Amino acid sequence: MNISILGSTGSIGTQTIDVAENLPNFRITALTAHRNHELLAQQARRLKPQLLAMYDKTAAHKLKAALSDLAKSHKFEIVAGMDGLLQAATLADCDIVVNALVGSIGLRPTLAAISAKKQIALANKETLVAGGSLVMAAARKNGVTIRPIDSEHSAIWQCLQGADLLDKSQKSPNSSIKRIILTASGGPFRTWTHEQISQATVQDTLKHPNWDMGAKITVDSATMMNKGLERIEAQFLFGLPTEKVDIIVHPQSVVHSMVEFADGAILAQMAAPDMMQPIQYALTMPSRPPRQHTPLDFSQMQLTFEPPDFEKFPCLQIAEQAAKLSQTTLPAMMNALNEILVAAFLRGEIGFYDISGHLRRAVAGYRYEEVAGLADIDAAERWAAEFWGGRSSKTNNLQ
Ligand code: MG
Repeated sequence: MNISILGSTGSIGTQTIDVAENLPNFRITALTAHRNHELLAQQARRLKPQLLAMYDKTAAHKLKAALSDLAKSHKFEIVAGMDGLLQAATLADCDIVVNALVGSIGLRPTLAAISAKKQIALANKETLVAGGSLVMAAARKNGVTIRPIDSEHSAIWQCLQGADLLDKSQKSPNSSIKRIILTASGGPFRTWTHEQISQATVQDTLKHPNWDMGAKITVDSATMMNKGLERIEAQFLFGLPTEKVDIIVHPQSVVHSMVEFADGAILAQMAAPDMMQPIQYALTMPSRPPRQHTPLDFSQMQLTFEPPDFEKFPCLQIAEQAAKLSQTTLPAMMNALNEILVAAFLRGEIGFYDISGHLRRAVAGYRYEEVAGLADIDAAERWAAEFWGGRSSKTNNLQ
């Protein structure tokens, strides 16, 4: 199996390389990164792929200079920009595209890979939130399976395969599924008061209790927007309406999600919180080759569950509203603005509750439309950027 990894220098990308290096018969043929040319150069020396793509054009030049000696002994190409990502996504000599990009930038490469009939291992949830109806329709048309890497969705997928109920075409909900239950760790502020959360710093926000992840998703976990995005992702992946997707807080992150069937049985998938398991399953499914892992000791563990707090985490409410309108441009706009707000929060420009405050105001003033094509998603994302660009310069905690 030949794999292209889009976003190979991020958290999921580096872990995908570790997984692939431990699997026989897997070869990495393309790697892409945003601007971390140093790490991409190291990866290239070790893995010797045939294509390297750097989204940032200046970084592409630096990469070329850094690898001039390797070019004498190994044949490879360095490309740049969105065109570069698209080349990596559609490389002839590639079977599976691992999309580990962050943000809706991953949408075009995913669609290109599907058109080229590549299997997709998807860690980039924003792709489905922004363009889920386009992606799933294209996947059905081209006979491509979207293999989830997101741990909750991988868990549901593993439960459905365990029950032999996975609709191979990912077309319609199986009537035997009563509901799916997405688990959420609750993030670093689960036990904080509203007042304490309103004062949260970037440093507080980046301290996730269970998972070691990139900055964007760690902030999304703290606001719980991550679970809201995952609800939309689940609706698209498994063809389910909003009312069949429940969210429960499970602070230990051992049960990665559950499926309740019409006969009352519930299947749960459990494992130590470690992204390597869902990554490996996405590459090798339905087989389960052995893997070094932390065994769970149930005699030493208490598993607890509690309802999510929609008041303390308003992003859950906002995302639920978007989830009910998943076929429209509302999720794309909400997702794009969330990306902008998270970046502003990380730069220290806005407070923690400004993220949900601005999102709520934007959602209230936005006129959504049915998604007919990529142009509609582009327009929704432009609206989000203009909303942010046109805001009052005075920002304070809005709630
Ligand atoms: Mg997840």
